[in-house]
Amino acid sequence: MEQGRIVKALSGFYYVAAPDGRIVECKARGRFRKEGVTPLVGDEVLFSGQRERGTVEQLLPRRNGFLRPAVANLDLLVVFASDSIPVTEPFLIDRICAIAGGQNVPVLLCVNKTDLTAEERLAPLYEKAGLDVIRTSAVTGQGIEELRLALAGKLSAFTGNSGVGKSSVLNRLDARLCLPVGEVSEKLGRGRHTTRHVEIYRLSEDTYIADTPGFSAFDTDRMERILKEDLQYAFPDFAPYVGKCRFRDCAHLAEPGCAVREALEQGKIQPTRYESYLRLYEKADQIPDWEKKE
Ligand code: GDP
Ligand code: ZN
Repeated sequence: MEQGRIVKALSGFYYVAAPDGRIVECKARGRFRKEGVTPLVGDEVLFSGQRERGTVEQLLPRRNGFLRPAVANLDLLVVFASDSIPVTEPFLIDRICAIAGGQNVPVLLCVNKTDLTAEERLAPLYEKAGLDVIRTSAVTGQGIEELRLALAGKLSAFTGNSGVGKSSVLNRLDARLCLPVGEVSEKLGRGRHTTRHVEIYRLSEDTYIADTPGFSAFDTDRMERILKEDLQYAFPDFAPYVGKCRFRDCAHLAEPGCAVREALEQGKIQPTRYESYLRLYEKADQIPDWEKKE
């Protein structure tokens, strides 16, 4: 048996990249289905077989896994956003951060289309919130080398609302990719991204990128196993105040003596961030006490 990484899943086949660079088309063992296990793009696997055809025999332990988009073992989630057409709503970014935070995946915010931006909105907001931010332009090339450095040696997923420039930036990172770049209006209208599969591109020796479908797929209503009480930890800008509230189990909603709300009132936490926290709190899972024990 050999070890490799699933780089594409399509129509019941798993395409596994072997260490020597060849791609092996594999079927999964029937028992995966029986056990309710779905191999994901990004999974490290053991596989058997000939040079070009094989069978996925075993999944190695995952460091993290997402259902929508279906991808595992991310080292970094790069959220693409834009202050221009289309404008990215902060809530979209906050939601992705919360989902990534729930799985301990670091987030990098890439604010693209800087060549079109008259007044910066998102980059300063998120720098204040304690996120890593890179400003890029697929047109001028600003920030592309900085982004390349941030990606080196990792498996990263690119996500962000349709039309912000993910494909354009990927092409700029590696001209050999030649990904189709769409017109904004066309993409927004037809929702091209919703049916697209996830695929991993090899950028260099040990650097991989999963080009994932847009935000619609990081489902709005489905918080992937984020507990209400864990949500606060996905907001690095809350960190200095968490634990300083009057009540130990303060949810920072309307409790008296809440240090987070106090920081909000003093302008130390940005209003949009706190609003996102409230919206996400509504959606986060409330797992009953009897299910919590592990
Ligand atoms: P995706 O849906 O996120 O993959 O976005 P695309 O890469 O397909 O880009 C959508 C549109 O925005 C295309 O018309 C691109 O040419 C344009 N675009 C992408 N990046 C930039 C940029 O940095 N500056 C400008 N001016 N246009 C961009
Ligand atoms: Zn509080």
